[in-house]
Amino acid sequence: MKREAAVILLEFLLLALLLGAFCYRRWNEEKRTENSSVSVEQASGWETKTVRGAASDQKTGDGEEDFIKIALTFDDGPHPFYTEQLLDGLKERGVAATFFVTGEHASLHPDVIERMHEEGHLIGNHTYSHIQLKSTNRETFKEELVKTNQVIREITGEEILFVRPPYGTWDKALEEELNMIPVLWNIDPLDWCSKNVSCIVQRVTSKARENAVILLHDYYETTVTAALQIVDSLLEQGYTFVTVDEILLE
Ligand SMILES: [Zn+2]
Repeated sequence: MKREAAVILLEFLLLALLLGAFCYRRWNEEKRTENSSVSVEQASGWETKTVRGAASDQKTGDGEEDFIKIALTFDDGPHPFYTEQLLDGLKERGVAATFFVTGEHASLHPDVIERMHEEGHLIGNHTYSHIQLKSTNRETFKEELVKTNQVIREITGEEILFVRPPYGTWDKALEEELNMIPVLWNIDPLDWCSKNVSCIVQRVTSKARENAVILLHDYYETTVTAALQIVDSLLEQGYTFVTVDEILLE
């Protein structure tokens, strides 16, 4: 009996260790971007490129702004269940968000993409298969962006202007080649790694500021719950949710 308990404990510790290692690895990969301009060090042979950050301190008009803009962005979807749940909550609150979808998920769930479009959300490109740009796969990466633009355009009829490169790795030359604008982020609560709703909410609301871009993933139930709590809390603080074009193209 004691031996069995020891084995269970050992298995539990091993599992915790594996989970910790996985989260640490993803955290490292997700080059966190706290600044408006981010230098991404590429693999050998590549120059350091400067990527235009999402919330660069841009002018907000002639001082006549009477609301504080902030943008919610969701990556990796659409998810057949959680994204719909999120869309319901955003609709109830009259809030618009930006969704960076993969071509793969978009072609599996075109109805969800259509709904996003109809309900006033902005749709951006997150590659076809969630590929990370490396020195060895630039052409494939570019093809994935083109293919995903096609998938989305076939559903919504709209051109895609914004791209969120997976893991924040980008090549500035692609902006002209594809006529696309990269969108990074300022607030990353690492929601994919946390099952703790209040922790995600706290991480976001404590860092909220004008023109910030919040990174979340509509692929987890906890994120949907947290996102709607974030919306309620920031609305109460006087924020207005906008899509990223309203922050970047001012
Ligand atoms: Zn992603």
